[in-house]
Formats: sequence, structure tokens, C-alpha cells
Amino acid sequence: MTRQPLAAPSCQSCGVNLKKPTEFGTTATRCIDINYCRYCYWKGEFTEPDITMEQMIEKVAKSIVAQSKMPMEKALTVAGELVPTLKRWQVEAEAEAEK
Ligand SMILES: [Zn+2]
Repeated sequence: MTRQPLAAPSCQSCGVNLKKPTEFGTTATRCIDINYCRYCYWKGEFTEPDITMEQMIEKVAKSIVAQSKMPMEKALTVAGELVPTLKRWQVEAEAEAEK
């Protein structure tokens, strides 16, 4: 559980790369939370607390398509490999594996 890609911080919810301080999420005390981007985590809460891992994969895939013109099918594969490795979804992925 210590494996963390610290070299290039990325949001542990949607996988977006975080470069500028303004791109990071914030805690309830308005400090920067280095684990998440501002679109996923704001003032100590997830902006979409009920989103499932599948929905996030689809959301990430759509943003990949928008940014890189990658075909949706391929983007879904990329997102499907990325999203389950992120911290937010680890618990869900483990629960899923136990079924
Ligand atoms: Zn995010």
C-alpha cells in the first residue's frame, strides 16, 4: 500500500496529472490536498460522492477522447486500466476481487 507515483502527482480519483497548485483539491480547512484534483475533491468532500468506478472510467475515457481524439473504444481501455489503480477506487477494486 506504499506504491505511490509521486514523481508526477495525479488525481487519485480521475487520474488527471496535477501540475499547478490551483489544480489540486482542497481539504475542509482549505489546505491543498495533493491526492486529488479540484474537480474531484473540494473543501474536504468528493464533488461526486456517489459516482461508481465504472462511471468514472467512462468519464475519464470521454475526457481522453476530447483531448487526444483517441477512439472511444481505446480510451475506455486506457481509462479502464488507469482508474482501478487510483487510491479512491482501491477499496472498491478489492471488494470486487473478493466476490
Ligand atoms: Zn480528479
